[in-house]
Amino acid sequence: MNRPVRQTTRDLRRHNRSALLSRLYLQGPTSRQDLIGASGLSSATVSNVVADLIADGLVMEAGLVDSDGGRPRTLVRVRGDVGFVAGVDIGETHVQIGLFDFMLTEVGTAVFPLETAQPAPELIADLLVRGVKEVTGQVGVDPADLLGVGVGVPGAVVPGQPELVYAPTLGWSGVPLAALVRPHLDAPLQFDNCARTLGQAEVWRGAGQGARRAIVALLGVGVGAALVTESDSLGGVTSTTSEWGHMVVNIGGRPCRCGSRGCLEAYVGAEAILDDYLRLPGATAFRATGTEARLAELIADSVEPGPAAQTLDTAAEVLGIGIAGLVNLLNPDHVVLSGWVGLALGPKVLSAVEATVRRHALPYLAGNARIVVGELGPEAVAMGAATMPVVRLLMAGGVKEVANGR
Ligand SMILES: [Zn+2]
Repeated sequence: MNRPVRQTTRDLRRHNRSALLSRLYLQGPTSRQDLIGASGLSSATVSNVVADLIADGLVMEAGLVDSDGGRPRTLVRVRGDVGFVAGVDIGETHVQIGLFDFMLTEVGTAVFPLETAQPAPELIADLLVRGVKEVTGQVGVDPADLLGVGVGVPGAVVPGQPELVYAPTLGWSGVPLAALVRPHLDAPLQFDNCARTLGQAEVWRGAGQGARRAIVALLGVGVGAALVTESDSLGGVTSTTSEWGHMVVNIGGRPCRCGSRGCLEAYVGAEAILDDYLRLPGATAFRATGTEARLAELIADSVEPGPAAQTLDTAAEVLGIGIAGLVNLLNPDHVVLSGWVGLALGPKVLSAVEATVRRHALPYLAGNARIVVGELGPEAVAMGAATMPVVRLLMAGGVKEVANGR
């Protein structure tokens, strides 16, 4: 019976490493005493595991903190130089690649505008490979030495087929993106829905910090949302995506690209907002070209009363109704407005959105939900994607995986 026992010991050891490493990663500098209290592990186990993590270059001591009347306690924290992770944001208007250290501090970025709304998978694979090589080149890292590359897709990755991408907005159905990328990039690859991974990043490092139950709204040309909840395992979070953009807010309303009518996205997606403006009396043709620049122009023009301001008032109201639905349904403590439209529009419409949510959600639920604008900036989605290889290393207790069986 030796073998199963050895197996169990190794599993337990990996579990303990993973639990303490994850806790340190998410909570920042912590004393060994606080780790004992928080993890429920014995002081000998915490002491041994932390010593191992330090010896393996994953964790370091980070100064002293006073304890009540006792000796000062030494803090330990996860090292940023464990390795680099890359995150890829396959957006509707651009592909953005961010390079981050292990603590998700951005150290390099590359952005490629997309000329077409339905790019060929081969084009995206090519930009992904070029972008990863460009950002790693910026800091002199070999792509093969990356801890991993996370790819956030505006669609779904079906369980059991982790490398096939379904993204109706891109016109993709079961695209083998990994197979297109792998011959040209020697790094571990992971794919997931971009709203889900963005939600994880906002709760780890952005406006959702401290949330127990956050909804992160990804507002762009398309509209999605993720529910991010605290999970007991590893002291981490669980994130679930939803097709919030296709919740009907107007019976028999505008046609939506999904084939239905009256969807939220048909009113508060970037293109919908721009179209709304152009339909109003007194609207003038946009001076800027491109969806992002036009929305910026609309927001700048909205400081004066007129059709631009009226457009944003309408968008705020419909967005508020959409959020009120989520608040009634899911009882979040935070709602984070993110994605490039959320970041651009958020500061302008936040108070109007809050007022609409208060009018339409049940008071005890609305009172529980703080509505905030995302804090991670334009690299938020890339950072979200980069959380994938970080999570994998945390789950593995810091034991690095090698790419492509090297
Ligand atoms: Zn729809």
